[in-house]
Amino acid sequence: MKTSLQPTSARVAARLRISEIFLSLQGESTSVGLPTVFVRLTGCPLRCNYCDTEYAFQGGEYLQLPELLAQVAAFQVRHVTVTGGEPLAQPACLSLLTQLCDAGYSVSLETSGALDVSGVDARVVKVLDLKTPGSGEVERNLYRNLEVLAPRDQVKFVICDRADYEWARAQIGERRLAGRCELLFSPAWGQQDATRLAEWILADRLPVRFQLQLHKILWGDAPGH
Ligand code: SF4
Repeated sequence: MKTSLQPTSARVAARLRISEIFLSLQGESTSVGLPTVFVRLTGCPLRCNYCDTEYAFQGGEYLQLPELLAQVAAFQVRHVTVTGGEPLAQPACLSLLTQLCDAGYSVSLETSGALDVSGVDARVVKVLDLKTPGSGEVERNLYRNLEVLAPRDQVKFVICDRADYEWARAQIGERRLAGRCELLFSPAWGQQDATRLAEWILADRLPVRFQLQLHKILWGDAPGH
């Protein structure tokens, strides 16, 4: 039989460990406010000190890609965000992204910026973190990722304090990020005063999009939103 001839690695590659699949409003990025299906993959090699999805570090359940796509389709919305954890830590994530695009969805990927994004389907909008010193994971930034970003891709800075703000501002200048892609500044939830961050951006005329995490304003830290 054909299936018995498939190598074990091929069968394993066609499944992903999933923490949760849910419908919510996109809370961040330039798609903020749009009804979106979130596919949260289990696992992350980083440990940011402000992480709000530690429950996704472990556990979850394995789903084959066809079953996963069927669950997404059941929500009947056109926007899908693949997130984590760090979704690219599972190699089959690349197949998932391509199959979602092939199925006609508007697809975005939320990634830590620590793993190579060059293999991500070009139709996917990449929302890539640059980890600040305040995250505790600045050493994990894979800066060559910045070279493969398209204009509609987005680089997100989560700002923990004034030192983070100044670091992020310097990165934008030194790496000539302005105009290359969307730039997002978010205050770290519970750490950085949002109004103060907004005032810093205005004072510097910084060419970035200030954002608050809409889902947290609406639903707090509850999983599934
Ligand atoms: S990269 Fe994201 S999921 Fe991983 S530890 Fe940092 S905030 Fe949490």
